[in-house]
Amino acid sequence: MAKRDYYETLGVVRNASDEEIKKAYRRLAMKLHPDRNPNDKTAEEKFKEAKEAYEILSDARKRSAYDQFGHAGVDAGAAAGAGAAHGRGAAFTDIFSDVFGDIFGAGRAGAGAVHAGADLRYNLDISLEDAVHGTTVNIRVPAQAACRACGGSGAKPGTKPTVCPTCGGQGQVRMQQGFFSLQQTCPRCRGSGELISDPCAACHGQGRIQEPKTLSVKIPAGVDNGDRIRLSGEGEAGFKGGPPGDLYVHINVREHPIFAREGNDLLCEVPVSFITAALGGELEVPTLDGRVKLKIPPETQSGKLFRLRGKGVRSVRGGEAGDLLCRVTVETPVNLNARQKALLNELEQSLSEGGRKHSPRASSWLDGIKKFFEDLRQ
Ligand SMILES: [Zn+2]
Ligand SMILES: [Zn+2]
Repeated sequence: MAKRDYYETLGVVRNASDEEIKKAYRRLAMKLHPDRNPNDKTAEEKFKEAKEAYEILSDARKRSAYDQFGHAGVDAGAAAGAGAAHGRGAAFTDIFSDVFGDIFGAGRAGAGAVHAGADLRYNLDISLEDAVHGTTVNIRVPAQAACRACGGSGAKPGTKPTVCPTCGGQGQVRMQQGFFSLQQTCPRCRGSGELISDPCAACHGQGRIQEPKTLSVKIPAGVDNGDRIRLSGEGEAGFKGGPPGDLYVHINVREHPIFAREGNDLLCEVPVSFITAALGGELEVPTLDGRVKLKIPPETQSGKLFRLRGKGVRSVRGGEAGDLLCRVTVETPVNLNARQKALLNELEQSLSEGGRKHSPRASSWLDGIKKFFEDLRQ
């Protein structure tokens, strides 16, 4: 099931202030709360949706991850929160989980103080050759790593964070509003469940530092536009010792000057002279693995498609390789000199003496036109 946009769920604009988001959520929560709508499944679902949206948008860090990466940016965090409505599996089911044997678990982080890092997306442009044959590329990704000085706790080395007295380390507090009881992120520790009185100087109490990293990514042979490769644990670092997110490498195959890919087939256009098309001949055509001979039979018409079996692409999902489809385009000769023009005129003369048999298509076309005009006259 595709998730609704969080802003849409709360009915606020994308640049809504924290106050507006809070108000919108309160209004929805009052309307949809299960206590007010007993046995109403729709209201309950909507309430859960609003709650999840609010949990993300009320947290500056999660909100910015969501703005940048959409649901992919925050799913880990959402699943880690108490009572999240959706597991990660729903959002990320793709073919690469099969290819690499990864299985998406449910939420990976425990409740309370630790948060999983956000999943990151990297757009990778590769050539068609690399996509077909596979390759290894090094990519540099902006990343945050757990602070080494404090081991990710955010507290000055030698000191320890203390348990937040307001929420007792839960990170969540219950607020009484009329007869509703709402669970909210603890305002004192902002959900982390702990307080740092002596922050680590290296990371300013964040537990993480900016640290770009270089990753070697193996691109399997046969990938196509839109495929993605998951690098488990290479996403954003976890918060305060939480597990890291994943990095998704999205494949974009650059346009090729000769070949276009369609599924597992490769298409290419082959210009031939009208002499070759008429008399037949042999051409050399390119494939991604070198040249092959293509036999052009006599009387070949423009647009004719020749299929070279198995010269296409073998999909990353396995199976038979596709075909290479060569579309013949008959080229009209240009820059003719006087002698060549005379020869063509002579040929034209000779062909017209032979009549319809030399140009069956033109003849039947002319017949069609004639009939069309006769029909009009009636
Ligand atoms: Zn630190
Ligand atoms: Zn607290």
